[in-house]
Amino acid sequence: MIAEHDLVERDLAAVWHPCTQMREHPGLLPLVPVVRGEGAWLVGADGRRYLDAVSSWWTNIHGHGEPRIAAAIAEQARTLEHVLLAGFTHPSAIALAEQLLARAPRQAGRDPLAKVFYADNGSAAVEVALKMAFHWFRNRGETERHKFIALHNGYHGETLGALAVGDIPLYRRIYAPLLAEAIFAPSPDAYDARPGQTAEACALEAADVLASLLDVHGQEVCALIVEPLLQCAGGMRMHHPAYLRRVRELCDAHGIFLIADEIASGFGRTGTLFACEQAGIQPDLMCVSKGLTGGFMPLAATLATQAIYDGFLDDSRERAFLHSHSYTGNPLGCAAGLASLAIFDQDDVLERNRTTSMRMGELAKDIAALPHVADARQCGMVVAFELTRDGNKTTPFDPSLRIGLQAYRAALARGVVLRPLGDILYWMPPYCIDDDALAQLADVTATTIREVTACA
Ligand SMILES: *Cc1c(COP(=O)(O)O)cnc(C)c1O
Repeated sequence: MIAEHDLVERDLAAVWHPCTQMREHPGLLPLVPVVRGEGAWLVGADGRRYLDAVSSWWTNIHGHGEPRIAAAIAEQARTLEHVLLAGFTHPSAIALAEQLLARAPRQAGRDPLAKVFYADNGSAAVEVALKMAFHWFRNRGETERHKFIALHNGYHGETLGALAVGDIPLYRRIYAPLLAEAIFAPSPDAYDARPGQTAEACALEAADVLASLLDVHGQEVCALIVEPLLQCAGGMRMHHPAYLRRVRELCDAHGIFLIADEIASGFGRTGTLFACEQAGIQPDLMCVSKGLTGGFMPLAATLATQAIYDGFLDDSRERAFLHSHSYTGNPLGCAAGLASLAIFDQDDVLERNRTTSMRMGELAKDIAALPHVADARQCGMVVAFELTRDGNKTTPFDPSLRIGLQAYRAALARGVVLRPLGDILYWMPPYCIDDDALAQLADVTATTIREVTACA
């Protein structure tokens, strides 16, 4: 066994961690060295097991160490580890692009998504979509279309382009002077519904405001970007699919592109392979990443329609889409992606998830009844619990109490990785999680909520 405290000491001497106030390590915020992963579980250097209830930042869908993905990567590594994707191609990049296009959302009467542009992380896939939309209009001489519309409470990544269309103050505020101007429309978030208002009415009300914004700004806009059905980093907030149907119509009416950011919602998380399917709509550009490789390799893709692709065909090099990353279309990532998609078929994952998500919904009922839980909601393989002072939506906890951090520590001490977003606890486990692990997850969640709210 590797001495855990040694690893922590060496780590803190050399590693700067993401999304972390490093001063909180290791006193306030434990740092857990992990040496192995097995299914829904992570194994610490000290041998302790942790249930990965957040799928390691929503990437892992089939479980850690999934042998079919591991074997596909090993085989690819022995054959071809990497080749530049400009002027060259390789069988895994081709096959994965074909598979993604064949499985992408489709809407009768629309030009299907027809081309795949690879990148290596979600933020980059978003940058690609934004740049493609903007550049497409430039190529047509429509230079007045240089703005994006995004939603309040949305999240699209941390690079400056992606942050510009994000609306989470904690990540955005400091960098605001550097960010391109975007137009923000209200979130269709069902949590914000007035008492007695349905989720659908709430979503359509948000769509009405979007329609007015477009009446004013439509001519300056090149694209609208949305996380379909589920605003993840914004607190696992969910909206009615009717919103997406209105958005599709409005984008068409104003001649602007619809970008679906399916980076977190894609690959079965919301119940269908892609969230857009539940609204019966097809975007013009679709970004995928996180679950694309089953959580094994960094890889991302932006899918585009033929019409968008055609807008770059020209005798000018500058009118081509010159964006690139060194690891664009990395073969190891593509091989992992192919293996992950094959597992969807081999194991009938979407069907199995229907049973698993029903069980999650059952287990959530007791937790929803706890006095500090203001809302319990579910979208497919995601369940979220909103904690407030007295279980009322209008009385949030004082942020200085750091209820979420306390919950994180309390659950971790019991061997469960819950990484709350503010005071929102959520379950987003690998799809292979079994009933025993789910029962343990529910048990620890309930205990954690009772513990951290007892003295608040
Ligand atoms: C995580 C995420 C991103 C950014 O992906 P990274 O790989 O972390 O850069 C973008 N959009 C959504 C919806 C995400 O959840």
